Amino acid sequence: MNAVTPVLEVDELVRHFTTKDFLGREVHRVRAVDGVSFTVAPGETLGLVGESGSGKSTTGRLVLRLDDPTEGRIRFEGQDITHLNAAQLLAVRRKMQVVFQDPFSSLNPRMRVGDAVAEPLKSHRILKTAAERHERVAQLFQRVGLDPRFAERFPHQFSGGQRQRIGIARALAVSPRLIVADEPITALDVSIQAQIVNLFMDLQQELGMAYLFIAHDLAMVRFLCHRVAVMLRGRIVEMATTEQLFAHPRHPYTQALISAMP
Ligand code: ADP
Ligand code: MG
Repeated sequence: MNAVTPVLEVDELVRHFTTKDFLGREVHRVRAVDGVSFTVAPGETLGLVGESGSGKSTTGRLVLRLDDPTEGRIRFEGQDITHLNAAQLLAVRRKMQVVFQDPFSSLNPRMRVGDAVAEPLKSHRILKTAAERHERVAQLFQRVGLDPRFAERFPHQFSGGQRQRIGIARALAVSPRLIVADEPITALDVSIQAQIVNLFMDLQQELGMAYLFIAHDLAMVRFLCHRVAVMLRGRIVEMATTEQLFAHPRHPYTQALISAMP
């Protein structure tokens, strides 16, 4: 494969949602994503920033193929992944992982966190024996700054910051090419946010993966992202390198975001 092939190419992506009344009549149409295009290069972190409801999570879900676009095209490592069957989707999922705002909203409260982190290694048949998976989970816990012995504990026994470390360990388990992080620090205390940003920065240095980093403000984006796309009402209104964006913000909404920073 060509070295400059983007990890991700999103082309004129559109996602409409319609809500219906009790007679099945269409009452409301939301243009959640309204013609969005961007690329993410290997090893690049692209920030997707915008206020609540601007279409960031929908864009992330479309990229992860957890939802189908109304129009547009998505390519992953050069392959068109807009329309895939279940087997093809499984192969792509192995290379694309997600970190949510609260990773535990999707975890079984009765499953030990080590088993949860090992789960994708098992389901994708990356490591076949329990002993191998146990070893890998211990490495992953260490990598994200958690005592490997914590793998035996249950979700409720962790703080918000620790939970997010576990969510990151789970995303890293399969050595993905792209991580979509949807507001991974929004729900955390400010002091903890900085720790998680530092962890992401270390991982960027070490592992060279690509990231789509979703945030509703620019505070952390400044440290983490090489380029930033600013979203407003389903559209990207400005896209620039992080340096350019802060030095010469062109769109009034970007200017407002910058002046709102502490
Ligand atoms: P953000 O992540 O930027 O806050 P979202 O992508 O979650 O924004 O939402 C964008 C818009 O799409 C919002 O108006 C939201 O209400 C709407 N939306 C998102 N998901 C759905 C859905 N499943 N059904 C109907 N409307 C939705
Ligand atoms: Mg969102």
